[in-house]
Amino acid sequence: MFQKVKEKAHEISLRQQHGNFNVQKSSEHNTCAHCQTTYEGYICPQCGQRSDSAHFTPNVVLHKMMDSVGFDERGNRSILRTMRDLLWRPGYMIRDYLGGHSAAYFQPFKLLLLLVLAYTLLAYLFGVLPEDTGEDVSNLSASWKNDDTKQKLIPLITTTKAIIIWLGNNMAYSIILQNFVIVTAMWKVYRKRALYSWTETFIAQMYICCQFMILAIVLLLVTWKYHEPGILPYLVPSWMVIAVMIYDFYQLYDEQRIWPALWRVIKVNLWIILMYALLLALFILVVALYMTIVIAANEA
Ligand SMILES: [Zn+2]
Repeated sequence: MFQKVKEKAHEISLRQQHGNFNVQKSSEHNTCAHCQTTYEGYICPQCGQRSDSAHFTPNVVLHKMMDSVGFDERGNRSILRTMRDLLWRPGYMIRDYLGGHSAAYFQPFKLLLLLVLAYTLLAYLFGVLPEDTGEDVSNLSASWKNDDTKQKLIPLITTTKAIIIWLGNNMAYSIILQNFVIVTAMWKVYRKRALYSWTETFIAQMYICCQFMILAIVLLLVTWKYHEPGILPYLVPSWMVIAVMIYDFYQLYDEQRIWPALWRVIKVNLWIILMYALLLALFILVVALYMTIVIAANEA
């Protein structure tokens, strides 16, 4: 029984590792309308213009519009293939992408923006986005009217609050900013295992954010509930974050055994917490310095 499960798992794993790239090659001869190069295929090797872009027939225009959101009938940079692979073989897909098959997949930055847009639209439509319940700065300002030192803190609080609100409203940029911390943690833990540079890890992490965004959309459609992000900017429950991280990193970093893989995922999370703690300490230091200067100025 156990042996059978193991065999089945191995079989699935082999199928996941195998990327299915049906590259369609064209043998038609073309002369580029832009740079006059004669070539074989449908894209000019000198300037990158497509052979069909000389005449704007309704078909060509429709194709260009569909292509900008990832629906290319030739199968390159397909958004549907990218989303399917992000669920079916995430780590292997990212490995393929970093390993040179970049034409097969939709660009991660564009995909993240589109997915965040879709999530936000759905969330507004269902009215499930949380209300801003933070204390109004003007109330605080009124209650602190008689205290000069506290009054001087108001601009600082207003700025901090504005930054937090901006991060909440600009989910895509907020995710990208938080990725600097997450990527550094991943790079630190896995740099001996995989030869991915910091930048390559960043690309991988962008795809992982896309994957979590897809899961968040599915979850939103199923539960109609908004899930608060934890220390990681993913809008799904924490148990799901950990499970998906193990799944992704197991494939991405070519892990062989489950326990060491699990330990490394925990290590990544510990590093993230440590870095956030350092950033918070830095922030408190800046506030303390600001306060000291304000008090010193008041006494003078
Ligand atoms: Zn050309």
